[in-house]
Amino acid sequence: MDIRVGLGHDTHRLKQGKPLVIGGIAIVHDCGPDSHSDGDVLFHALTDALLGAVAAGDIGEWFPDNDPQWKDADSVVFLQKAKEEIERRGYAIVNVDCTVFAETPKLKPYKKRITSNLSEVLQLDRDNINVKAKTGEKVGPIGLGEAIAADAVILVQK
Ligand code: MG
Repeated sequence: MDIRVGLGHDTHRLKQGKPLVIGGIAIVHDCGPDSHSDGDVLFHALTDALLGAVAAGDIGEWFPDNDPQWKDADSVVFLQKAKEEIERRGYAIVNVDCTVFAETPKLKPYKKRITSNLSEVLQLDRDNINVKAKTGEKVGPIGLGEAIAADAVILVQK
């Protein structure tokens, strides 16, 4: 069995008045990522995990944050292009595990919607997708509400 694993991580600084989108779902909050694209930390971590699984580099090489083409881009495009790349190399996703780190707001009410959206975007059964949420325990940039982050691990199979 030809299986490979990919790891992804992303962090974004938060800024007042910016929209917050996580896993393609709009989150009600008073601040959002200070970023070139829409700053969807989860989509960025998942994109890196997919690229990593097939040794295809990273999101910064594929979608540079100084490229006007990606200004305010919907990050679903990055994830879709990374999925196309693993498929072009003959791989399919087996399962996805991820964690979103945010002090506020509580993401529990959004986890199901995020999972459903990932299922749609990745064309993967919900049983093979796990979305976890953690706070920063009130310490560090996440705990102080200055940043949000996400980790993702994806297994792919030829
Ligand atoms: Mg990012």
